[in-house]
Amino acid sequence: MAHFRRWGLAEQVRRASPLPDSYPRDIIFATRLFGQELARFQNAFFGDQQLRDERFPEAAQWIPQYKIEAVLREAIATKPRTSLLFGHRLCRLRQDEDGVVATVERDGEEVELRARYLVGADGGRSEVRTQIDARMEGDAAYMRNFLAVYRAPGLSQRVPLSRAISYWLVNPDAPAVTGPMDEDDLWFFSTQLKGDTPAYDLDEARRRIGLAIGADVPFDILETDTWSAHRLLANRYRLKRVFLAGDACHLHPPMGGYGMNMGIGDAVDLGWKLAAVLNGWGGEVLLDSYEAERRAVARLVIEEAAENYSFVTHHMVREAMEGDDPSCAAIRNEIGRSITAGKAREFHAINVVLGLRYESQVIVADGMVAPTWDPMVYLPDARPGGLAPHHWLADGSSLYDHFGTDFTLLALDGAQADEVARLEAAADRLGMPLTVVRLAGDPALRTLYGAEMTLIRPDQHVAWRADCLDHDPAYLVARISGVEPAIPETST
Ligand SMILES: Cc1cc2nc3c(=O)[nH]c(=O)nc-3n(C[C@H](O)[C@H](O)[C@H](O)COP(=O)(O)OP(=O)(O)OC[C@H]3O[C@@H](n4cnc5c(N)ncnc54)[C@H](O)[C@@H]3O)c2cc1C
Repeated sequence: MAHFRRWGLAEQVRRASPLPDSYPRDIIFATRLFGQELARFQNAFFGDQQLRDERFPEAAQWIPQYKIEAVLREAIATKPRTSLLFGHRLCRLRQDEDGVVATVERDGEEVELRARYLVGADGGRSEVRTQIDARMEGDAAYMRNFLAVYRAPGLSQRVPLSRAISYWLVNPDAPAVTGPMDEDDLWFFSTQLKGDTPAYDLDEARRRIGLAIGADVPFDILETDTWSAHRLLANRYRLKRVFLAGDACHLHPPMGGYGMNMGIGDAVDLGWKLAAVLNGWGGEVLLDSYEAERRAVARLVIEEAAENYSFVTHHMVREAMEGDDPSCAAIRNEIGRSITAGKAREFHAINVVLGLRYESQVIVADGMVAPTWDPMVYLPDARPGGLAPHHWLADGSSLYDHFGTDFTLLALDGAQADEVARLEAAADRLGMPLTVVRLAGDPALRTLYGAEMTLIRPDQHVAWRADCLDHDPAYLVARISGVEPAIPETST
């Protein structure tokens, strides 16, 4: 959402969400939809639209992928240099020193498209991945799942539990997750298929959904599907002029909601680097840093999602958990406690979103040691490689809104004017666009950034920070734009 804000699209995404801002972003665990509550997580994924958080400028959004894609399609349509072609299928590609030729099938005919670079954002079955001989490594399809979309008129009004974005249902005969997709009683239903269980036919799906709801409620199944959980990472993200991004190079269970974030994160990281190269100020090393940065964080996120997936509703079921007598209530309390302890990490793992750090050739590390990793604790700091810390300024604006579209130099009270000017001049000589943001009189910023000067990349990650110029400015700008990594580091 911070990136959508940067692109001027956050408001459109918010408006496109089928659930209004006032809808509680809670997740409820219960025996059935018409059963007893076991546990509840408020502000899941930090999506509460009513709260203002110091750590980020935009709350997370609960929105179906097709709605996000509609917003992006509309935005792309306004970009005169971008064409969006539907109904085209990449068949094969070849590349030479100067570019890539993609052979694409359209209405049964093959056409060739030539480009300087090609990005395969073509999903889990990526043809581009095959074409560049990249290999997915890890566990493939280690758990199958059944998914249905159903319409249940009036269900939202009748559910005795409070409103929530999803309900995790823990019971012996239909453990599942269900939730509203809009305010018009379109609901999803998802459950694991144990072992070799075949995908449910419509009758079985209807029976399971009925059991999960736990009341006589009319509904129609509109769609069914199966999906498999993977834990896979591509052995490489690049071959010369061809790159992979999104599900094409990493796949993990959806628990934690990281998939789309990761794809957007890849696109953002690679996007500004390709733009820098095409605009003449980015070097080859910048393109190499894409894999170094994004593959490492994908590995971490895959493990996190797999950990979340190891404790789902059917693991929580206990005998006699639904009875009326006190011993059953005691069992439910126990289950509730284990859910509260075991699932908080999935719904409140803010560090897995904001705390991902890059180590690469284009990051100038400052030797500060990272705090111990905790998925649920995000401690903003401006060590190079991490996300630039967010801050609400005295005038109510987000610090991020002051950053430029390319590199930003954040200069605080103690930044020397002549050093800022030398950095600006060096960037100018390289052709690297640099916006200087001078902010004085806010001690909180000095504490957050721990330095008087910070160079922030277009993706809002910190490339370098120091109180004064500790490198030749020409070296510094060349290093962070991947132009001259080999120049020895010298103090000035
Ligand atoms: C059940 C489930 C729940 C999920 N929940 C979440 C969630 O809550 N939050 C989250 O962030 N993520 C979630 N995800 C993951 C998310 O859907 C994916 O990570 C995301 O869609 C990946 O985007 P992508 O663009 O990389 O690939 P895709 O969305 O798969 O898009 C790839 C595109 O490439 C096209 N394509 C494929 N081959 C070719 C070809 N040869 N030529 C031309 N085009 C081609 C396809 O048609 C498709 O349009 C979930 C996934 C599942 C299965």
